[in-house]
Amino acid sequence: MRIYCTVCGGKALIRKRNELTKDFVKIYCVCPDPECAHSFAMDLTFSHTLKPSGKVVEQLMLERFADMSNAQQTDFFALLGREADRRVSA
Ligand SMILES: [Zn+2]
Repeated sequence: MRIYCTVCGGKALIRKRNELTKDFVKIYCVCPDPECAHSFAMDLTFSHTLKPSGKVVEQLMLERFADMSNAQQTDFFALLGREADRRVSA
């Protein structure tokens, strides 16, 4: 990750990071330009998920399945069966 000095625009160095939560990190930076030497803090925050982690997809599927009515679960299995048949015949 590249941080730029907010005063001179040069590449800044990250001196320390303080992970306040897993979604919020405070980053302490310094500008290496001796004429500037600006030291400053920036906040890095989680914004949003673009694609769920492969590590949680199975859990999400189980939770979704558990929320379905019995009829929806039956329909889901029928759909899986049709999909499996389609793949075999393709
Ligand atoms: Zn600077």
